[in-house]
Amino acid sequence: MHNLASLIRAVPDFPTPGIVFRDITPLLADAAEFARCIALLAEPWREARVQAVCAIESRGFIFGAALATTLGAGFVPLRKPGKLPPPVVAVDYELEYARDRLEARNDALRKGERVLVADDVLATGGTLCAARTLVERLGATVVGASVLIELAALPGRARWGNASPLHALLSY
Ligand code: IMP
Repeated sequence: MHNLASLIRAVPDFPTPGIVFRDITPLLADAAEFARCIALLAEPWREARVQAVCAIESRGFIFGAALATTLGAGFVPLRKPGKLPPPVVAVDYELEYARDRLEARNDALRKGERVLVADDVLATGGTLCAARTLVERLGATVVGASVLIELAALPGRARWGNASPLHALLSY
């Protein structure tokens, strides 16, 4: 685990003063460690019969797509507004100082399809919970969430709750 963590760069005061940004690009660029990272992310879900991985634009796509192929599941992108052609289903959510929206194709998932939600970083949890709401609105079942990094000082895990498991590979 030590090696993985050493490939995530802490960038103080980015994108705004007081924020420590976790830069994952050195990890992505390391062939062996990126492959190991995906295997470790997939491990807890091997028996979960995941049928689709729904990942959040844009860094979530990197992990979500690799997880999907590793787990033998399909990949469904949850996109920022205006990127997908209609008809879409959308969920609006609050960020710290703004609002945002996630969209998916309205027929992206089947009723009861078993979905793993994936993203790179869990911070306040607003994004991940919006993804769950969107998946449920599409009639699918969320079996859990997978993130590379959990920022443990923030309420993301509490906000996710206990309805389904949340797995984080690294915690800061
Ligand atoms: P939340 O909605 O507050 O949990 O923020 C999570 C979203 O913000 C994820 O989609 C992340 O990609 C992004 N994010 C938050 N903090 C960081 C960071 O330190 N590095 C990279 N992405 C971050």
